[in-house]
Amino acid sequence: MLSLYQSCMLTYTVFLLFVSVVKTTESAPNWNTLNETVGGRLHKAKPFSSPCFPDFDGISVPRNKAACKIIEDNYLNATYRSSQFGNFMNTQWESCMSTSAQCTLDSSDPSDSLAWTELPCDQGSIAPYYIDVQNYKDVQAALAFSRTTGVPLSIKNSGHDFLGRSSIIESLGLWTRNLDQISYNASFVPVGGSQPIPAMTIGAGVPWVDAYSFADANNVTVVGGYSETVGASGGWIMGGGHSVLSPTLGLGVDRVLEFKLVTPDGEYRTANAHTNVDLFWALRGGGGGTFGVVLESTSMVEPREIPLQVASVSFNSTTETGLQFLRLLTNNSLQWAQEGWGGHLTSSGFISVTPLLTLEEAQASMQNAVDFVQTQNGTVVIETLPSWFAFFAKYTIPAQTAVGSADLAASRLIPYSLFETQEGRDSFIQLVTSLPGSFLEIDVVTPFLYNATENSTSVTPAWRNAVWHVLMGSEFVWNSTLAEKVAAFEFTNNCTAGLISIAPNSGAYMNEANVYEPNYEQSFWGGNYDRLLAIKHRYDPLGLLDCWKCVGWKGVDDSRSRCYPRVD
Ligand SMILES: Cc1cc2nc3c(=O)[nH]c(=O)nc-3n(C[C@H](O)[C@H](O)[C@H](O)COP(=O)(O)OP(=O)(O)OC[C@H]3O[C@@H](n4cnc5c(N)ncnc54)[C@H](O)[C@@H]3O)c2cc1C
Repeated sequence: MLSLYQSCMLTYTVFLLFVSVVKTTESAPNWNTLNETVGGRLHKAKPFSSPCFPDFDGISVPRNKAACKIIEDNYLNATYRSSQFGNFMNTQWESCMSTSAQCTLDSSDPSDSLAWTELPCDQGSIAPYYIDVQNYKDVQAALAFSRTTGVPLSIKNSGHDFLGRSSIIESLGLWTRNLDQISYNASFVPVGGSQPIPAMTIGAGVPWVDAYSFADANNVTVVGGYSETVGASGGWIMGGGHSVLSPTLGLGVDRVLEFKLVTPDGEYRTANAHTNVDLFWALRGGGGGTFGVVLESTSMVEPREIPLQVASVSFNSTTETGLQFLRLLTNNSLQWAQEGWGGHLTSSGFISVTPLLTLEEAQASMQNAVDFVQTQNGTVVIETLPSWFAFFAKYTIPAQTAVGSADLAASRLIPYSLFETQEGRDSFIQLVTSLPGSFLEIDVVTPFLYNATENSTSVTPAWRNAVWHVLMGSEFVWNSTLAEKVAAFEFTNNCTAGLISIAPNSGAYMNEANVYEPNYEQSFWGGNYDRLLAIKHRYDPLGLLDCWKCVGWKGVDDSRSRCYPRVD
């Protein structure tokens, strides 16, 4: 008798044979026919900075100064970037890093003319064609097209992916941005279920800022990310989905009730706790771009009025006072975790929030941080806000992460056990001091107090024991040479090695990880990987969807990977 895993592998092997036959019978892409099938919504795509350049793909073209001025003015603007297909939050995903084919402005000064006089404008890794997806039939048409022509597919929502998985060179892009419907149902019943629950259904192109304002207008709270422009129903929710409310209200994968998607075999499906249960489990942590193209997700909501205590402190740090502050943060982390605080911390301040304390309790909880910051002549606010939306509008929108540059991340989920001993806490400080060129961001966003049902999601179990999600890393600039890019990646790899050395048995958040994460299957999914792979093979036997370090990834030798530089 074969086990489920063995029978899936056998089926997969048979399909691989089938694929090799299909490959020999692939037909040439007929873009006109595809365009007709999708109602004229197939478009040609160019890098969004191309109007600034006097050339494109080796041919002279006149610069469009007026269009270029708009691009320069909005180069660092996440809302502008996410409103168009041909750009990404981190500029390396618009370029082909390994060949330096790109069309990139200078992030430090987007009006710097050197960027368009010294280097030419190339297509880079931007998909040359994309479909403006508006319904499941568009996705079915794209999958059928890829199956018969061999043209690879990419799926792009907001373009925030840290590993460049929404940008695949010479692919047919599926742009979900205009799947922008949102609805609220006070008695949502998942297909096949019977228990009504208040929930919001959110289309696959909706950014968090729209979901939050819709929720507020409907007197509910939906739990989501810090960034306004990250998509609510794309990579965020399929890869885990953290929030500063996650310590008490769980990750995105803990709260989702249902997905509607087209799986790579072309079927339009519902996945929830009653229907396509295995797929539902895989979609709750297995990652975007892997198990299908999601059209919408439905997540449970909370009442609008959740009084939140907010602590916002900041000061001008030096290397020495920054380290003193980090020591204070490590010493307080377990107490703050028990009190439900979530937030974003740095060596010069933090914005944290908890729904569990009164104002007086919050003031007492934060007293030693307040004392320290006041001795540094910093600023302190501790206050009560009536709702998530009030917090988001006042604190989150002004604190958005910079975009429009080539940032590289290394990250690790840091378990509570590290904070229990002086030795553990010291190891974190030593790590930070040993990597002086790195940025440091500490996201307190793990579901520390959330009572998750065991094995109900496929994220790495490391999330459940962690207190911090720590990010470090590096960057490169518009005219960096290949050697300089590789050096930036190598430095980022050193950050990852350091983070692994202090938390060897933990994991990493697949959505905000190192491009060259070692042993990524274990890091991103722990013991869940084999089951995820079996489900991947069941729904995508031809491997039509593939992306960098995703479940079932075809590896560095696949042509989709050719823009990632080889880094040892
Ligand atoms: C500035 C910034 C802030 C961030 N803040 C947070 C945060 O607060 N919390 C957090 O958890 N993460 C955060 N992230 C990380 C974020 O979760 C990931 O980048 C995530 O992958 C974004 O998903 P997206 O769909 O918006 O982006 P995209 O880059 O468009 O897509 C990401 C991945 O999902 C796939 N995908 C997208 N849509 C679909 C779909 N409909 N069906 C199937 N696959 C799809 C893509 O192919 C790609 O693999 C942040 C990232 C950045 C750059």
